[in-house]
Amino acid sequence: MAPIQNVKGMRDHLPADMMLRQYIVNTLTRISESHGFEPLQTPIIEYAETLEGKLGDEEKLIYRFEDHGGRRLALRYDQTVPLARVTAQYAGQLTLPWRRYAYGPSYRGERPARGRYREFYQFDLDIVGSASPLADAEIVAMLCEALTALGFPGFVTLLNHRQIIGGIARVSGLSEEAAGGVYRAIDKFDKIGADGVRAELIKSGVTPAAADQILELVQIDGTADEVLDALAQKLAADKRAVAAIANLRAVLDGLAAMGVPAEQYRVAPRLARGLSYYTGVVFEAITPHWPEGSLLGGGRYDHLIGLFAGRNIPTVGLAFGIDRLHDVMIELNLGPRPQTTALAFVTLFGAEQVAESLRLAAELRAAGINTLIALEPGNIGKQFKEADRRGVRFALVLGPDELARGEVVIKDLQRGEQRSLPRAAAISLLAEALNEGK
Ligand code: AMP
Repeated sequence: MAPIQNVKGMRDHLPADMMLRQYIVNTLTRISESHGFEPLQTPIIEYAETLEGKLGDEEKLIYRFEDHGGRRLALRYDQTVPLARVTAQYAGQLTLPWRRYAYGPSYRGERPARGRYREFYQFDLDIVGSASPLADAEIVAMLCEALTALGFPGFVTLLNHRQIIGGIARVSGLSEEAAGGVYRAIDKFDKIGADGVRAELIKSGVTPAAADQILELVQIDGTADEVLDALAQKLAADKRAVAAIANLRAVLDGLAAMGVPAEQYRVAPRLARGLSYYTGVVFEAITPHWPEGSLLGGGRYDHLIGLFAGRNIPTVGLAFGIDRLHDVMIELNLGPRPQTTALAFVTLFGAEQVAESLRLAAELRAAGINTLIALEPGNIGKQFKEADRRGVRFALVLGPDELARGEVVIKDLQRGEQRSLPRAAAISLLAEALNEGK
């Protein structure tokens, strides 16, 4: 017999989890659309070649397989590479700059751990076709808006720029090729600490003196302005780093003008972000309540779309990890925890009242009230119990007496109160309760 088990690293999401996940996704969708972002959906399966050569070291995590026709296919690793393909494929139909959001699963053959899965859902935001620092600022402002709306306490968005790390490597005497090893070593900073990074740098051929200098620079700390001022001084000899610092300053100015509270972001020169396609600003949101990893991450990737389009299309974006947001929200007890989707439960008194009870349920739904209906007439006490067990707040009864009076009995199962009201008044009462709950 087949095992009754889901595949390792992949999860089922039962209703209670799904309701919180949908709340997260609905919140992100609302914020995306409030900024005029448009939805995009692409297939989960891509040609393997589409994904290959874009992800650097991460490429080994791609799930690859052959279909019945011998085509080499892959499960998408993220929604960024598919976006790059779409931008090139539909160039004539898209108006750049294009703001798009996308929600769906991605697949990575990682070692599963707390908060790390093989199938996980991402919600992406990208601004395609703009090099303006206002685009970077808008994406970061939206992530701060989203984490605030979801109620995350004490989150911070760490910001850095690839050419600041590049500059740190160059002023420490490293060649352009060696800089790649520096990204990789620094990326592990939060996992292995300063000593671990130092050992890793030396292992990759960096001299102890250069490793010490790199470590000193990546650990510069303070307010965003203080960090940028210190970096400007230390990296003054490196033109690209100077330009990167100016670019990051413009992003910070945008954030301030967009009203993002200063405590929600910081410049962190140690932030590398693993993926190889980033070219400019990179960022990651963290919370001290979840030391296991970032809530989300993103950055500017000005060359990736060019691999498909044949010309560079500057783009900045991010991916929220829905699973991670969900896990942390459960852990910190954030967000609403409805037990069910329905607010009202219409009971069935007896066979003669079935048709009118069905009509009442339809009227409630037409008034925007999610309504469950019993499936068998019978003992009303038992039906109240069922409604309560399901977590539905209001139970309604249309018995012969109520029908004769044009009324409905409405029982608030949360408060244990019961009364008989004219039908229209009962519907208004539920509509009010619905609005209170919003
Ligand atoms: P990335 O696409 O690697 O930039 O990741 C963006 C976000 O997706 C991360 O910050 C996580 O929230 C989430 N994420 C990435 N990998 C995983 C995974 N294996 N399991 C769960 N969430 C993930």
